[in-house]
Amino acid sequence: MNVTGKKGRVYLVGAGPGRPDLITVRGLELLKCADCVIYDKLANPGLLNYARPDAELLAVPKRIGPESFRQEQINNLLVQKAGEGKSVVRLKGGDPYIFGRGTEEAAVLAEAGIDFEVVPGVTAALAASCYSGIALTDRNFASEAIFVTGHEAEGKQQTGIDWQLLARFTGTIVFYMGMENLNDIVRKLIENGMSPDTPSAVVADATLATQKFVKATLAKIADSCAKNEITPPALVFIGPTAVGDASLDWLSELPLFGKTIVVTRDAEGGAEFAAKLAGRMAVTIEMPVTKIKTLTDSGDFIKTLAQIKFYDWIIFTSCNGVEAVFAALAKLNRDARVFGSAKIAAIGVRTAEKLSQFGLKADFVPDAFTSKDLAEGLIDFTNLRDKKVLLLRSLIASDDLPQLLEAAGASVDNVPVYTHEKNLCDMKPLSERPIHWLTFASPFAATCFFEQVSVDFVKSSGAKVASIGPVTSKKLAELGVKVDVEAAEHTFDGLLAAIEQHEIRTNK
Ligand code: SAH
Repeated sequence: MNVTGKKGRVYLVGAGPGRPDLITVRGLELLKCADCVIYDKLANPGLLNYARPDAELLAVPKRIGPESFRQEQINNLLVQKAGEGKSVVRLKGGDPYIFGRGTEEAAVLAEAGIDFEVVPGVTAALAASCYSGIALTDRNFASEAIFVTGHEAEGKQQTGIDWQLLARFTGTIVFYMGMENLNDIVRKLIENGMSPDTPSAVVADATLATQKFVKATLAKIADSCAKNEITPPALVFIGPTAVGDASLDWLSELPLFGKTIVVTRDAEGGAEFAAKLAGRMAVTIEMPVTKIKTLTDSGDFIKTLAQIKFYDWIIFTSCNGVEAVFAALAKLNRDARVFGSAKIAAIGVRTAEKLSQFGLKADFVPDAFTSKDLAEGLIDFTNLRDKKVLLLRSLIASDDLPQLLEAAGASVDNVPVYTHEKNLCDMKPLSERPIHWLTFASPFAATCFFEQVSVDFVKSSGAKVASIGPVTSKKLAELGVKVDVEAAEHTFDGLLAAIEQHEIRTNK
């Protein structure tokens, strides 16, 4: 208990392996509420996005290097943070009690009289099994499965591993932490009588877009790993099931699996797109070459606000516009009531959804995605003659929309509420791995990207270029960049679909 009388509690939470969304619902709920998160190297850092913005985040990597933490230090930290009255989530890769020293942490807490709860996680062997098509058991030829450490505790006098038993084992053997000692493991099994021809497989980075998977006989598995540059974290499967079933390897069948895709949008929009790509198992590189600057401090906007309820129609063309306006309203202690009975139009369902988060239901949402479609749709939907229309959008939006609305008889005020600016990015990631795709969601992003990277990069890297629509494609062409695919639907979902279809076509 701390001075305020609040009692601390520690939750040992299994983060699951690799991809962040394999955590349990219970684990995620606790993570979202925690005052303090103490996390391992193997817990996906993406999970930290779920922590409260004010939560204390402490990395406690073990292993090599000066930043390394000893188990005792971690134990002390848990006791200390709980002692401060905090709700502590100790996030551990996989399951806390499988080769995770979770029991040691729990024992220290029990000893110190600190309340704790242990939340199981998907352990790496289960995840690698499902993501590679190597079942751990099979009713015909593997009635048992066994998990073994390939790296016993340092200083341990006697081995806890019964190599004779393992060599005779007829089910599936899974070695954790076995990569460093793979040659030794193979040697000991063969020396103890296991056939060198026993099927074996290694799965590295299980469940991630970087997952790698090799199969060979026991005698050849180490060579095969070296050839394919398999690096930890990885699991070694040995036994009849390690033959696997290629038809169960659903992951490699995903068209975007393992493709490296560069996202050039502003950080917030880019993160959303990157998350979608990651959901399809692509490796994403976020390169926000633009950033959003709100313009709602301008005299124009403040004046508009005073008059806003006198408009007949207010048009939002993007989520950014909605966010900029509502952030400004919040600062002024105002809310959606400023719009009075003015009707609201939104380009795209996502903009409409964003409005609904602030309590506004759009009166008109065209199915289409361009300003021109919105104008034509709105003109069809309602008579705009002598109507007062307000556009709240980006400074660098095209003139199509106001011109079309004016031609239909409306009186249009165009008030910019945000703009995009160039953002300097670290371009090193472009040379760190082969790039499969560069994606562009606006002409401005294309300009800003190629101000920082030579156009020759596209040719020299072999990367393909995907554009969200004709306006962006035109800019890319002006810059001298060949566009490989253009989205039919000018949204991120459309962009993703275009890339995916291209991959499916070219891999047939
Ligand atoms: N508690 C963890 C295991 C920690 S020991 C769990 O339940 O999964 C660390 C070992 O787990 C690594 O050396 C590796 O063998 C295995 N491992 C963890 N994450 C992995 C992943 N994504 N892919 C393959 N192996 C993984």
